[in-house]
Amino acid sequence: MTVDGPPFSLPRYLHLDLGRQTQRNGARFRLHSHALRVETISWEHHDGTCDKSRLQAIQDEKHALFLCPCMQMYSLRLQFADLIHDLSMAHKITVNQTGAFYFFQACSEDVFNFFQKQTNDSYRFTLELMGVFF
Ligand SMILES: [Zn+2]
Repeated sequence: MTVDGPPFSLPRYLHLDLGRQTQRNGARFRLHSHALRVETISWEHHDGTCDKSRLQAIQDEKHALFLCPCMQMYSLRLQFADLIHDLSMAHKITVNQTGAFYFFQACSEDVFNFFQKQTNDSYRFTLELMGVFF
């Protein structure tokens, strides 16, 4: 490798047939340009904790993707369960007979791995998730 680093390459989502809104929201989520409370804390009057659940947990990407126990995210995770099957099932809590679930533990690496997927479904999941947390 040279001091110039690897050649520049466009993120995969720019090559997928996602539609403009999905592509835009995927990019916004990856760049922290979203309305999760971990970001809006700097200009709104709140403490950054999740307003969708009662966990008193910071509403960041990890919380939204895997940990938030709100009905909307239960069903979204169920709909896109194939995307998050690689998380430890020992940390999975199934909440009702529909199979809806959340995780009581996840790590930053799980968030990183999710963003590495860059599939049509992972961007659709991100788009729907941003709809929940706006
Ligand atoms: Zn929450």
